[in-house]
Parts: sequence; C-alpha cells; structure tokens
Amino acid sequence: MVRSDVIVVGAGFAGAVISRQLAEAGRTVVVADRRDHIGGNAFDRLDAHGVLIHPYGPHIFHTNSPEVVAFLSRFTAWRPYEHRVVARIPWRGGHRVVPVPINRTTICRLYGVDLAPDQMQPFLDRIRTPVDPVRTSADVVLNAVGPDLYQAMFRGYTRKQWGLDPSELDTTVTSRVATRTDDDDRYFTDRFQHMPADGYTPMFRGMLDHPGIRLELGADLDAATAHARAPLVVWTGPVDAYFAHRFGPLPWRSLRFEHQHIPGQGRLLPAAVVNEGDEAVPYTRTTEFRWLTGQDHTGSSLVREYSSAEGDPYYPIPNPQAKALYQRYKDLADAEPATVFTGRLAQYRYFNMDQVVAAALVQAGKILG
Ligand SMILES: Cc1cc2nc3c(=O)[nH]c(=O)nc-3n(C[C@H](O)[C@H](O)[C@H](O)COP(=O)(O)OP(=O)(O)OC[C@H]3O[C@@H](n4cnc5c(N)ncnc54)[C@H](O)[C@@H]3O)c2cc1C
Repeated sequence: MVRSDVIVVGAGFAGAVISRQLAEAGRTVVVADRRDHIGGNAFDRLDAHGVLIHPYGPHIFHTNSPEVVAFLSRFTAWRPYEHRVVARIPWRGGHRVVPVPINRTTICRLYGVDLAPDQMQPFLDRIRTPVDPVRTSADVVLNAVGPDLYQAMFRGYTRKQWGLDPSELDTTVTSRVATRTDDDDRYFTDRFQHMPADGYTPMFRGMLDHPGIRLELGADLDAATAHARAPLVVWTGPVDAYFAHRFGPLPWRSLRFEHQHIPGQGRLLPAAVVNEGDEAVPYTRTTEFRWLTGQDHTGSSLVREYSSAEGDPYYPIPNPQAKALYQRYKDLADAEPATVFTGRLAQYRYFNMDQVVAAALVQAGKILG
C-alpha cells in the first residue's frame, strides 16, 4: 500500500485540480478513482466509429473567470465554441422548433408576431401570469412567460428531467434560464466559451502528469481505507457514502444514455442539442457531438438522454427535503478535521466545471496554508 502526504478520492475536475496544485507545492499525492479512467463526468473518448463523444453527457466549457482559464490553459489549447440549443415543443396542435433560452425569435415564431426588442417586455407582460411570491420552478416560468410557454417548453421537460412537477421544485431549476428580449440565441453568455482543442481527457492527462502524483484507477475507496493511507484526505465522492449513509442515501437524479452513430457527412440536428418539450417523447434531449467538437468525420454520433431515479448520481434533487438531509451530512463533514470535502458529489450541489475548478484552486490554497 503506497502512502502519501495526501490521498485524493476522485479524478474529476475537483480531484485533478487539487492534486496538481498540491504536487506542485511539493506534496506527494495519490489520486484514486473507482472508474477505469480520469476526468470524472467530463471524460471524453473516441467511440467505436472514431468519433469523439462525451459518455456522461455533453460538456460545454464556459466561464467568466480569467484565473480558471489561465490554470487550464497550461494543459490544453482551446477551440472557440458557442453553444446553441433548440427545443422541439408541442404548440397549437403540431410541433415547433425554437431557440432556448426564450428570445425574440422564439416569441415571434410561436405567436406569429414581429416585435422590436423594446416591444418584447410589454408583450411578455400581456402573456405572463404574475405570481407573488415566487416559490417554485413553476412560479418562475408562469411569472415570466405565462401558461402556454410553461406548458409547451417547461412542464413536460421538467417532469421528465426530475420525475417531479415544476411546482414541487425550488426556483433554481428554471431561474438558471433567463428570457431574452433580443435575438441572442447562445445558450451561455460567458466571456470565455471554448472547448479543449483535443478534448477533455488529454487536458486531464496533462494535469495529472506530475512526478508527485500517483494515479490509481479502478480503486473504490471508503473513508477508513483513505485515512489509513494518508494524513489528509480530499474527498470528491458522495458525502453520504463517506459516512456510510448513516442518515440514509441522499437522493439523486440519474441519466441513461442511448448512443447512436449515423453514417454520412453534414449535420443532422438543427443545433448541437435539441430539447424535447413534449412529455410523450420519453427522452429529454439529443446531442450531436460534431457540433461540440468540430470533428470532421464520415459519420455522426449522437446521444439521447433518458432521466431516471436509478443509476449513477448526476443531479442533486433541488427540493427542501433533500437540502435538509444534506445539511445533516454537512454538519458531520464540517467536524472532520482531516478531510476536505469538495466537488459536486461531496457538496451535493450542481456546479459547472469552471466553478469546480475555481473552488478547487481555493481549497488547494487553504490546504497549503
Ligand atoms: C449530464 C451533465 C452535463 C453537464 N454539462 C456541463 C456543461 O456543459 N458545462 C459545465 O460546466 N458543467 C457541466 N456539467 C457539470 C460537470 O459534470 C461537473 O461540474 C464536474 O464533472 C464536477 O467535477 P467533480 O470532480 O466535482 O465530480 P466528478 O466529475 O463526478 O468526479 C468525481 C469522481 O469521483 C469518483 N469517485 C466517487 N466516489 C469514489 C470512491 N468512493 N472511490 C473512488 N472514486 C470515487 C467518481 O468515479 C468520479 O470520477 C454537467 C453535468 C452533467 C450531469
């Protein structure tokens, strides 16, 4: 058994960034991951057809943080990429394909109007249903765009995604997606929108390539094993698993991915991602990877996502019961002197990749004092 100054459980963004920072400061670090690869959920690889895919769902990098960009740029070059999403929604007896987030184009196409940007808000004021106070995800959408768009674009999608009605979910689920009065159809508005030029996995390989870092893949660690191997544990796995699910398991929403490959050049989808607003369509969205990666190939690989209650943890459930249970685990975690809990699984929170990197840089700084 190799001992080290620090053992890092998990080789995703949280684990890889902290490992690198500690190794550069002269610490010996073992990074263990139960999977047979690095990169956590941001891992990418070539599929059987030679197309670069994201097995754990599409990952698009975007940030406003110069520090995060500077750090990652040591391990990758970048390819500019602005992500766009459309929704296929049931509308007045048929189906329509419109930009998401809702913008001027979305409204004009659906309502058959031609509005100048300054006419948008008055129009939205006519179709929206004022809700006060705004308590749930349903309230957010009804208050912003009214019942027709709520029904067509959000209700079915959200019910599929979460297995819960928007009225049972807190405001964070839908308030992430703002309504725009102009024609901007980019999914993100961050200053930096780029993909790692050769993919995420080579970037992780670069991060973990340091003489002070030893990588152990296929190593599923529990808290006791981790502590037996190093005086300090950085835990990026699920916080409830660390405490052997003492208060019961934290609820997660999971995903099942259905991959397919279609021969032929040219793009098959009208945008990188098509959301399926219709509740009768069993999957939530389809992604065509060549939009994301820019890869030129004789065929196209796509993935459909089906949400489910069972399977690997993907999304923490945004409701008060889950939050209260997490708080009980957090109280235990705060009292663990020799363990740092960081990352999406350890903090039971949806984080974007850049947020995880930024937090990991701060954590590494704290560890190094
Ligand atoms: C479908 C989907 C799409 C997303 N798209 C985007 C996007 O477009 N843009 C964006 O910025 N973010 C996106 N994210 C968020 C992104 O995936 C996370 O921010 C990021 O992966 C978090 O990194 P992490 O290191 O905290 O966790 P992870 O990447 O999950 O890494 C944790 C690692 O710990 C390992 N582990 C857990 N327990 C143990 C154990 N006991 N022993 C050993 N190893 C263990 C796991 O195997 C895993 O590899 C998306 C998330 C999902 C679910």
